[in-house]
Amino acid sequence: MRIIFLVGPPLAGKDTQAGLLAKLFNTQAISAGEILRQADDEEVKRIMKEGKVVGAEVLKRYVLGWIKDHLNILRKHTTLIITGMPRAKEDLEVLDEIVKLFKPSHVDIVVLDISLDTAKKRLKGRYICPKCGRVYNIYTAPPKNDLLCDDDKTPLVRRIDDEEEGIVEKRFNHYITEELPAVLEFARPFHLVKINGEGSINEVFKRICKALFLECDRIIR
Ligand SMILES: [Zn+2]
Repeated sequence: MRIIFLVGPPLAGKDTQAGLLAKLFNTQAISAGEILRQADDEEVKRIMKEGKVVGAEVLKRYVLGWIKDHLNILRKHTTLIITGMPRAKEDLEVLDEIVKLFKPSHVDIVVLDISLDTAKKRLKGRYICPKCGRVYNIYTAPPKNDLLCDDDKTPLVRRIDDEEEGIVEKRFNHYITEELPAVLEFARPFHLVKINGEGSINEVFKRICKALFLECDRIIR
């Protein structure tokens, strides 16, 4: 098995790129952020709304818990895509547990780089389908019909933890000073690639595929 971790600052397009990679490998993308957003836990909702890091105990309870609940299905895949973690040094033990569960022969850490200005611009355009969780951006990945989900026609909503520009700036700075160093520490024994995350979804995806030696013509042209 191969595991690809996708990390980056807020609005770097992690979940979007993970979705494309999942399509390429015919597998499931595991988004720590989405699992946490769906957790029925007021404390977790409050922490995420404030743009703070949930911590390793919460990751263990919900994200590792989710992975263990779906272990039989996940183990059938040849590739897994994981986004949204680690975000702190203490999260590294959770990542180690994930690696131990699947014993992958290859681990890639893809770091998406964007500027704070790009994050702020993308923030203004990001919407999510409350029914299926598909993420849209009116600048980079607009829905076909005005603010309706392409898949199920549900009216799109803005993500609650993205409402404040100040929160994104705080999360961005936290990423640069705390999360990225943790990622680089975790990445040491694995294959690390840094990708320029600026530009369109297809441009970024082509860069990821090139860095991972993948043929992506089947997904995009
Ligand atoms: Zn939908």
